[in-house]
Amino acid sequence: MASWKDNVRRVEPYVPGEQPKVQNIIKLNTNENPYPPAPGVEAALKAFASQDIDLLRKYPDPSASALIDTIAEYYGMDSDQVFVGVGSDDVLAMAFLTFFNSEKPILFPNISYSFYPVWAELYRIPYEKQPLTDDFKINPEDYYKDNGGVIFPNPNAPTALYMKLDAVEDIIRHNQDVVVIVDEAYIDFGGTSARDLVNKYENVLVVQTFSKSRSMAGMRIGYAFGSKALIKALNDVKFSFNSYTMNATSLVAGVEAVKDKEYFEEHCKMIVATRERAKERLTELGFTFPDSKANFIFAKQEKVPASVLFEELKKRNIFVRYFKQPVIDQYLRITIGTDDEMEQLFVALKEIIDGYSI
Ligand code: PMP
Repeated sequence: MASWKDNVRRVEPYVPGEQPKVQNIIKLNTNENPYPPAPGVEAALKAFASQDIDLLRKYPDPSASALIDTIAEYYGMDSDQVFVGVGSDDVLAMAFLTFFNSEKPILFPNISYSFYPVWAELYRIPYEKQPLTDDFKINPEDYYKDNGGVIFPNPNAPTALYMKLDAVEDIIRHNQDVVVIVDEAYIDFGGTSARDLVNKYENVLVVQTFSKSRSMAGMRIGYAFGSKALIKALNDVKFSFNSYTMNATSLVAGVEAVKDKEYFEEHCKMIVATRERAKERLTELGFTFPDSKANFIFAKQEKVPASVLFEELKKRNIFVRYFKQPVIDQYLRITIGTDDEMEQLFVALKEIIDGYSI
C-alpha cells in the first residue's frame, strides 16, 4: 500500500549560520553589517507604527512599486528591469525556478554559496559543480561547456575572491543561450557590479541584497536587475507562487535605506577600511587568505586548526563561521565587524595561538 511518506519531497536543507540567543557576543559569523541601517529607516518605521499601522490590516502593494521605483532610480535602470524579493535568497530561489528548466546541468563553482545545490535539489535541476583553481579562483573556461544555466557569486562566498568584470563578461559571452545569474551579495565592498551588462545581454540576471551593505538582514530585502524579458518571466513565476512577498514595513524601510546614498557609501567605506587593517593584523597572526573584496575574510592559520580556533573563540563569546567540509576545513570565515570588535577578535586569536601546543 502506498504510504504518504513515499510522496514527501525529501531535501537536505541549507544550514544558516548560528544566531545565538545569548547577549554580549561578538557576532562575526553570518556576514551581517555591524552598523545600524540608515537613520531614515528607523524614522520611517517609527512613523509607520504611529501613523500608518492601519496598513498592516491591508495587503501590501503586490507590485512593490515604491521600492522597485526607488531602486531603479538609484541605479539608473527602468523599473521593469528590477525585481524584488524577501532577501536575495528568495530572489535566487525564484530565479532557479524560473530560468533553470533544462535537462542539461546548470553550472556553479564547487566551493561557493551552499544554497545553490539545495535549490537545485529542491527543484530537481541537474547540476555540475566546477572546481576552483588551487588558489580558489573561478576559471571562466570551465563555464564554456554546454549547460542549462550558470550561477556564481561575485565576490565568491566563502572565499571572498572577486572576479574582474571582463572575466564575468567572458563567462556571459560564452553562455548566451542560457540564463547567467551573477550573485552580487557582497559587491558593494570594493567590486564593480555587472549591473550594466543587463543592458547588453538579455540573458543576464544580477542579484543584490540589502542584508550586507545596507545593514538590513533582518528586514529581508533582495533585488535583481535584468532585461525586461527576464524580469517579466520572474514576475510571472512570483505571481504564481505568492503575490505578496514584500510586506508593508519592508517596502517603507527599503525605500528609506536606498535614499540615503551618503550613509550607504560612508559605511561601506568604513567596512572596507576595517577589512584592510584586518588583513594586516591577520597576517601578523600567521593567517593566510585569498584577497577579500567582501565584508568577510576567509582565513587559515598556519599552526592552529580552524576547528580549534572556532571552538576557542566561541568559548570567549566570539562567533565566526567554520565549514567542516573537504578542502576548506582549515579555514574560518570571519565577518568584518566594527574596529573595536575586530580588536577583541585579534586579542583572543593571539591568546589562543600563543597557548596552542600540539
Ligand atoms: N548570496 C550569497 C553569496 C550569500 O552569501 C548570501 C547570504 N547568506 C545570500 C546570497 C543571501 O542573502 P539574503 O537572502 O540575506 O539577501
